[in-house]
Amino acid sequence: MVQASDAHAASAPPASPAGARAGEFELIARYFRRPSSRAVLGVGDDCALLQAVPQQQWAVSTDMLVEGRHFLAGTDPRRLGHKALAVNLSDLAAMGAQPHSFLLALALPAADDAWLSAFSAGLFALAEAHDIELVGGDTTRGPLNLCLTVLGLVPPGGALRRDAARAGDDLWVSGVPGEARLALGHLRGEWTLGPEALEQVLPRLEQPTPRVALGLALRGLAHAAIDVSDGLLGDLAHVLRASGVGAEVLADALPRGDVLAAQPEARRRACQLAGGDDYELLFTAPQARRADVVAAAAATGVPVSRIGSVDGEPGLRLRDAAGHSIRTAWASFDHFAQP
Ligand code: ADP
Ligand code: MG
Repeated sequence: MVQASDAHAASAPPASPAGARAGEFELIARYFRRPSSRAVLGVGDDCALLQAVPQQQWAVSTDMLVEGRHFLAGTDPRRLGHKALAVNLSDLAAMGAQPHSFLLALALPAADDAWLSAFSAGLFALAEAHDIELVGGDTTRGPLNLCLTVLGLVPPGGALRRDAARAGDDLWVSGVPGEARLALGHLRGEWTLGPEALEQVLPRLEQPTPRVALGLALRGLAHAAIDVSDGLLGDLAHVLRASGVGAEVLADALPRGDVLAAQPEARRRACQLAGGDDYELLFTAPQARRADVVAAAAATGVPVSRIGSVDGEPGLRLRDAAGHSIRTAWASFDHFAQP
C-alpha cells in the first residue's frame, strides 16, 4: 500500500526514502517471516498462495486491537502478541473451525527492536500451539494498531453458527466468564483486588486461552456457538436474535471460581453477565446430548457449565436460584454506545 510519507515525498522529500523502505523489509524479514509448511507461498510476495482444500469451507475473520481502546498503552508486548492472535483464534473456535493461517496488519509508532521481538515471541508461541501459520500482512508507521485476519477450515455444514439455536436446547458456557472484567476493574481503579486474587484473574484479561479444541469437539454436537467477547448476556442476545428464539439464564448456575465468589453480589453478577474479554464459548446443544457435551469438555480439558435453556418465547429471562426473575439494564460492550 502507498504510505502517507510516500505521498508527501513530492513536496518535501524525506532524507532517505529508499532506506526507510529497506528498514521496513528488514523488520518484516526479522520478526515476521517464518518458513511456511502450509502455504504454497508465504510472506514475501504480493500475495500469499494457499491451496484450496477439497470438501472444506474457509472460515475467515478479522479483529482489530487499537491502543487505548482494546489495550492500555504500555501493555507488555509479549502478552499483546498473544492476545492479538488469541482473540482471532477465539472466533475460529466459536465456529468450530480448524486454524489454518493468518495475516497481520501492523501500525507501529517506531521500529523498536525490544518491543518487536517480545511481540513476535508472544504471537508465534500461540501460533505454534495452535498450528496456525503467518502467511502475510502489512506494516506501516502510525499509532499502535494491530489487525489480524485468521483463516480456518470447516467441513460443509459443520460450522457452529449463531443462527442455529433451537427451542429445547441447553445453554452452556466454558470456563469462568467474568474474571477478565474483574481484573480490568482493578486496573481501572473501579475496585481493588488483593495480590493473590489479581494474580489469578489477570491472565484471563491479558492472556486469554482461545477454546479452539473445545470448538472442534463441539462440531456435530452443539447447535449454535459464539465467543463471549463483549459480555455474556449481550453475546447471547446475538444468538437468540439470529436464531429467532428466547432463553432463560440461571444467574446462579454461572461458575464463580474463588475470586468471583469473594466479590459483593452486584459486582460479581455484573462481571459474570456483562463483562467482556473472556473469550469463553457460549453454546447451545440438545438436551439429549448432555453427556456428550460433558465428555467433549473432559476430553479437551475445558470446564463447561450448563447455565440455562433455550425456548420459543422471544427475549432473555434471567433468574436466581430461587427462581425469582432478576431485572438488569446491563448491556454488553458496544464501542459506538460509549461516550
Ligand atoms: P506490498 O507493497 O506488495 O503490499 P509489502 O511491502 O506491504 O508488499 O509487504 C511485503 C511482504 O511482506 C508481503 O508478502 C506481505 O504480505 C508481507 N508482510 C508485510 N508486513 C507483514 C507483517 N507484519 N507480517 C507478516 N507479513 C508481512
Ligand atoms: Mg503491503
